[in-house]
Amino acid sequence: MSTEYEAVIGLEIHVQLSTRTKMFCGCELSFGDDPNVHTCPVCLALPGVLPVPNRTAFEYALKIGAALDCELATVSTFDRKNYFYPDNPKAYQITQAARPFAVNGKLGDVRIHHAHLEEDAAKTIHTGGSGRIKGSDASLVDFNRGGTPLVEIVTEPDLHSGAQVREWGQLLRATIKQLGVSDVNMEEGSLRCDANVSIRPVGSTELGVKTEMKNMNSFRFIERGIDAEVARQKALLEAGEPVVQETLHFDPATGELHSLRSKEEAHDYRYLPEPDLVPVVPTQEMFDEARNSLPELPADRARRYEDLGVSEQAALLLSFETEWAGYFEEVLDAGDSLEPRVVANWVTGELSAELRRQEDRPLADSNVPPASLAALIGLVARKKISHGAGKTVLEEMVSTGADPETVVADKGLEQISDSGELEKIVLQVIEENPKPAEQVRAGNEKAIGALVGGVMKATQGRADGGEVNRLLRQHLGL
Ligand code: ADP
Ligand code: ZN
Ligand code: MG
Repeated sequence: MSTEYEAVIGLEIHVQLSTRTKMFCGCELSFGDDPNVHTCPVCLALPGVLPVPNRTAFEYALKIGAALDCELATVSTFDRKNYFYPDNPKAYQITQAARPFAVNGKLGDVRIHHAHLEEDAAKTIHTGGSGRIKGSDASLVDFNRGGTPLVEIVTEPDLHSGAQVREWGQLLRATIKQLGVSDVNMEEGSLRCDANVSIRPVGSTELGVKTEMKNMNSFRFIERGIDAEVARQKALLEAGEPVVQETLHFDPATGELHSLRSKEEAHDYRYLPEPDLVPVVPTQEMFDEARNSLPELPADRARRYEDLGVSEQAALLLSFETEWAGYFEEVLDAGDSLEPRVVANWVTGELSAELRRQEDRPLADSNVPPASLAALIGLVARKKISHGAGKTVLEEMVSTGADPETVVADKGLEQISDSGELEKIVLQVIEENPKPAEQVRAGNEKAIGALVGGVMKATQGRADGGEVNRLLRQHLGL
């Protein structure tokens, strides 16, 4: 009998804070500027300089800790993590190891082990004769990024599949974005995620040997990387071979995993208390500010929308994108007792699809103010126009910005409200389509579709679907 395995995954997420200046000096943060223009003696590690912690970075960090429902430390300290690499000119990184600013949190169903503050490394660029620096084959260092404030969030190993990691990662990203403390842009590296992956026999509570996957720039890639790694580990165990602790890179282009290096142990870093910095003791006001300034977070917002009757999928979509959530609420406010569920479906369904179809427009230049969409949804809800006609109207609204009543009048889309007129059309369609009509009479209910289609075509979508069905059934003796 073969053993069933379950995947066990813990994440380490680095979030670059969007403060104006770096963690321990006054250099401005930047992205995409010329190399080495945002540097000073501190972040270049010239002899004799001293770090000065960035207060705003600490305040942002406390917000993240509060949003992740952590215990915020009344005293937290900085440590040196020693390692040599060209992107690390001090040969140590200032981080928090012994006493991080936040511990024991939770987001959704994943526990947070802790979150700590640290400084980012500089960036190495390997030219290989191509890329930005042409013609030479060299490794260069750009110190602009060196010293950027980072919050590292470390979860407990509470995740169990690539898909769960993607969904939870998106929740985490949306949550931090909502706080306004980071751009959380994965392509630009302001949010980076390492995944620790192991497997174990289902039912076992012991942890298996883990591997670590580094820094992928999208949650889709992380999902695929984890799935590939889980499959690789299963194959190893099934072949009676051990999983070796190592750091891996997943190549999304080929779907292959490469070993980067064998994993270093904590003692290799010779952690020691940072002698140049005193412990941080935030004031009660700083704690209060962190907790009281929290906006409505995506998970709470999604729950509130679901309580209003919005489908789970639409509630999540809206809550992860503040801009869309704001729009949704404005449509609701502008409308005359519209059902939230219906409004959410128009916003996340028809409107978002139409924007994508028309040159992939962002919501901000959609041409459709919330009040116009509310008016359109009202027309459909009051059966002034059919749902199908509503989509035609929306297409026009998105492309020209016209208001829905005008489009309905111009295109003559108003629903046929005279049931005598509709009945006449129904009878005509039955007469012109003897074959499906006969099939329906003989008990084949599916054949009615062709007749409904015929009526819709004859009325150019101006008939109420329910009414058409009712009339057809009546005249076909169902
Ligand atoms: P290390 O000492 O190797 O850095 P930690 O205990 O500090 O390991 O945990 C680092 C991350 O790895 C955390 O997110 C943790 O949840 C996760 N993790 C630890 N052990 C395992 C395991 N066996 N399988 C999967 N994830 C793990
Ligand atoms: Zn500097
Ligand atoms: Mg560790």
